[in-house]
Amino acid sequence: MALVQIENVSKIYQTGEVEVAALSDINLSIEKSSFVSFVGPSGSGKTTMLNLIGCLDMPTQGKILVDDRQVGNFNRQERAVFRGDVIGFIFQSFNLFPVLTAFENIEYPLVMIKNEPENKRKEMILNVLDSVDMLNQKDKFPDQLSGGQKQRIAVARALVTQPKLVMADEPTANLDKASSINVIRLMRDMKDKFGTTFIFSTHDPRIMEEAEIIHTLVDGKLA
Ligand code: ADP
Ligand code: MG
Repeated sequence: MALVQIENVSKIYQTGEVEVAALSDINLSIEKSSFVSFVGPSGSGKTTMLNLIGCLDMPTQGKILVDDRQVGNFNRQERAVFRGDVIGFIFQSFNLFPVLTAFENIEYPLVMIKNEPENKRKEMILNVLDSVDMLNQKDKFPDQLSGGQKQRIAVARALVTQPKLVMADEPTANLDKASSINVIRLMRDMKDKFGTTFIFSTHDPRIMEEAEIIHTLVDGKLA
């Protein structure tokens, strides 16, 4: 059974009089525990695609199933609850809180979304910090970490709630080549370790080679 099923999905943005078809009639499915990349030039629809799968936005047409739920019909509140239960996010610009340590940044979703008790929380955080090989950096603030280290912490934060799916829109866009490959390989290791499905986007050919499955978008259509 697929984790993500997309049927005849289109997304049209309307700005004033102008309509932009960001995605046109997309059909695809993504299996559990897979490592998938959406690639294509700027403006090809990658972010729109990831926003729809990640329940941040809704399709204009078509059906989207994530974890057997019809997320395309959810209202705002249902989408927020579903995201908290099922999806982790990694961002291009890391989005760590500068005033919180690495440990506290990872703790944040456990307090805000999951409401886990403190002793359980601590165990979950230390476990995931160990998995991304950042235990010895746990008390550092984001400013004291390199870009690659920040993204490792962001990977840990995405995984700490044990989501079935992690979405990452251009997660290496702010990293140098070595750190980029490092972070993508870390994500792949986490997929193997936890069985989490990863969906990321990139327009960097060196990064897409690391994916197991590549979907290429051209002008909002699958190539
Ligand atoms: P990518 O991530 O591959 O660069 P996007 O999904 O961001 O592509 O954009 C796809 C197309 O949709 C582009 O033509 C873009 O200008 C347009 N678009 C994206 N978001 C909006 C929006 N909020 N309003 C209007 N047009 C948008
Ligand atoms: Mg984009």
